[in-house]
Amino acid sequence: MWKGFVKVEKIAVLGAGIMGAGIAQAAAMGGYQVILRDLQMHLVKDGLNTIDKTLNKMINRNIITEEEKNSTINNIQGTTDLSDLRDVDLVIEAVVENMSVKKQIFAELDSLCGPNTILATNTSSLSITEIAATTERTGQVLGMHFFNPVHLLKLVEIIKGLDTSDETVQKAMTFCDKIGKRGVLVQRESPGYIVNRILLPFINEAVFIYAEKLAEKEAIDTAIKLGLGMDLGPLELADKIGLDNLYQTIIGFNNEFRDSKYRPHPLLATMIRGGHLGVNSGQGFYKYDCSYDNERD
Ligand code: NAD
Repeated sequence: MWKGFVKVEKIAVLGAGIMGAGIAQAAAMGGYQVILRDLQMHLVKDGLNTIDKTLNKMINRNIITEEEKNSTINNIQGTTDLSDLRDVDLVIEAVVENMSVKKQIFAELDSLCGPNTILATNTSSLSITEIAATTERTGQVLGMHFFNPVHLLKLVEIIKGLDTSDETVQKAMTFCDKIGKRGVLVQRESPGYIVNRILLPFINEAVFIYAEKLAEKEAIDTAIKLGLGMDLGPLELADKIGLDNLYQTIIGFNNEFRDSKYRPHPLLATMIRGGHLGVNSGQGFYKYDCSYDNERD
């Protein structure tokens, strides 16, 4: 229950891509009025179509009813007009991972939204403190890091920037509860937060084992799946994440921590140069045909 704070009832999601559509859907299913904003109407419609498809799959699996689907859809209003966000209580930004784009958006939101509005970013790797510094409300800016696919994964990492207030964290946690997610607090911003900080060195170590020819790729993945009860092995996961994304993120850890334990195996660079990026390019550690559905559903 709310503890005397301004209640979050109406939210906005910026960016109707993979994450924005998923977050908008989760919030709408939780009963919130959601404004979903992208730059052009066809992008908004793509996001709404993704939501529609996901909800249909949920109906087919008896997870929701047709009525629940309809009320979810009715809770979402698509727009390209930023001024529609004027009276929302919470904005979750899920636009492209680009600092200057995010800074510009947060500065605009700061002058547009009411003084109580919380501004959250779903960034995976950019500084929340740097984004917050473009606003006059640094206490009300935080990271809310959802996981893909949002409709399946319950975790949200709640990350404090330098000035984020406890009240803001509490409101974000309550919002997560209400949409059926579990917020986990990360006390201060740091590369990879919790999950990726653990996951990336784990995958990188699997690449070392593979490159050392200690075991075949199938053996490495089978060992992890059967030995640790995971659905995917680390090399399969690397292909899904994309070797280029993986490489850049580990390099980012290395730059930030100045610690050689975060060093991508050189094989990753070689594979990237050869265009072996993983599922999206059709070849990574494994081969994929064009019909491979990269979305876990
Ligand atoms: P995406 O490319 O699928 O979608 C981004 C959307 O933002 C696009 O539709 C683009 O048109 C839109 N956009 C760009 N500028 C905008 C603006 N000024 N206003 C409104 N919309 C704008 O990206 P994504 O994978 O959904 O990632 C979005 C964010 O979430 C990034 O910060 C990313 O790091 C983070 N993230 C991604 C994942 C993932 O698995 N994809 C997981 C966690 C966090």
